[in-house]
Amino acid sequence: MNESSTTPATRALADVANRIADAARKAGRGASDVTLIAVTKTHGAARILPAIAAGHCHFGENRVQEALEKWPELKAQTPGLCVHLIGPLQTNKVRDAVALFDVIHTVDRARLAEKLSAEMERQDRRLPCFIQVNTGREPQKAGIDPADLDAFVTACRRTWRLPLAGLMCIPPVDEEAALHFAFLRELARRNDLAQLSMGMSGDYELAVAFGATHVRVGSAIFGARE
Ligand SMILES: *Cc1c(COP(=O)(O)O)cnc(C)c1O
Repeated sequence: MNESSTTPATRALADVANRIADAARKAGRGASDVTLIAVTKTHGAARILPAIAAGHCHFGENRVQEALEKWPELKAQTPGLCVHLIGPLQTNKVRDAVALFDVIHTVDRARLAEKLSAEMERQDRRLPCFIQVNTGREPQKAGIDPADLDAFVTACRRTWRLPLAGLMCIPPVDEEAALHFAFLRELARRNDLAQLSMGMSGDYELAVAFGATHVRVGSAIFGARE
């Protein structure tokens, strides 16, 4: 990409990618072990296109409806983009979600796992899935209770045959994120799951130190949301 096409967001994106590479090296890992998901919720195509032009291909959205309004066209223009659903998924949106997204980070209940499984079969699109774990056991937050996780993983594998990739969490805002990252890593290890979706703008380097394979970064790239 030439200098004249850089924007504040593409410069921030490069900076975040460098910081991830440094954090990975310090942890004895390779930069390519970590996927940077640029979270584009609330931002329109005009803000997203420079990042795509800069060669970035992993993007995250937290709402199916909003994603449907921008990503079909962007994906048609640029083959190879990978769009991650990182927000709650209602069962009546599963059909649209399976058609549009490439990775689901928020499998958080049996009924959703069952619906996703049936819809992936119907569309013949098997998307890698992360199980969201409510590591802080916050009543207002989505996610499987850690105490129920092992049984849920088994059901996802045996009953619904979901293509499980790993675990995802959003630590409580007022707690030490490191404790939650370490906890999620342990839950993944004992369930033989290789991937960890954890870390946001404020703590993605820390998450990489704890083994994150996917970090979800929005405001550090695109600025504060409205
Ligand atoms: C919005 C969002 C992010 C990105 O948050 P920032 O703090 O802007 O980096 C990450 N994960 C989820 C689930 C989100 O909804």
